[in-house]
Amino acid sequence: MSFTKNSWIDLHAHSTASDGGLSPTEVIERAANRGVRVMALTDHDTISGLEEAQAAAKKIGVLLINGIEISTAIDNRPLHVVGLNVDPSSASLHSALSQLADLRLERAMAIGRRLEKLGFADAYAGASQEAHSPRPGRAHFARWLIGKSHFKDMSEVFERLLGRGKPAYVATKWPQLEEVVTCIRNAGGMAVLAHPLRYKLTASWLRRIAQQFKEMGGTGLEVSVARQSHQETDMAANVARRSGLHGSVASDFHSIGQYAADLGGFCSLPSDIDPVWTQLPGEIDGCKIAELK
Ligand code: MN
Ligand code: MN
Ligand code: MN
Repeated sequence: MSFTKNSWIDLHAHSTASDGGLSPTEVIERAANRGVRVMALTDHDTISGLEEAQAAAKKIGVLLINGIEISTAIDNRPLHVVGLNVDPSSASLHSALSQLADLRLERAMAIGRRLEKLGFADAYAGASQEAHSPRPGRAHFARWLIGKSHFKDMSEVFERLLGRGKPAYVATKWPQLEEVVTCIRNAGGMAVLAHPLRYKLTASWLRRIAQQFKEMGGTGLEVSVARQSHQETDMAANVARRSGLHGSVASDFHSIGQYAADLGGFCSLPSDIDPVWTQLPGEIDGCKIAELK
């Protein structure tokens, strides 16, 4: 397995349309500067950044894959699923996203109330301002708390307040995995199980979930993910081999400097893994991306 600092393809990144720090245009510009030619913008539960990103991508000469990262759950365990090549005008996608928007609003208000009780007044208003949205996510609450000098960094806020099981954590009833896979497929897209090593699942649980995901119509699994150890990449590759899922690549970029993950910065896929982009349409410089290694 070789280490590439600048992969030509990155299929997972965020912008200010959700909890990222760069605008969709800035994400595309940064991708191009780092040698990324094919980029998927995958904001959490929203496609609102895609129009701007497409305009920038056309101007700059990057191929933008319309993407999304949807919050879901199986057996009450939260999971993230990336949708690649979704049709932004899909009615079923729009109705799923409006339900998710309601859930995110409820969750944000509930987190705000918890923080309020813990002595952090006006947390909801502050996080909403961070997000430029009435539906701030946990990262926005964290940034607001850090800005108020209550905490030094993201990991400390999650460790002490916002992480699963911590005092300001709010359990959310995310849509079921199967519903989300079906919704992505109905929108003409492919479903990819995001960052499989980040759920703290045992290897056997992970294999079982990947198998179920494949049976539900899932296409891929993120095998090469930024900040992952070689050992973790090997584990993810094994899960992909066993379940017959295609391998995907992900920086999960949020903002410059955050988590030291940058666009296109991850290990290349192990050579025997069938890349998920063999299933994607489009070309760059006259070459079909399906045929690129
Ligand atoms: Mn995020
Ligand atoms: Mn995620
Ligand atoms: Mn992500």
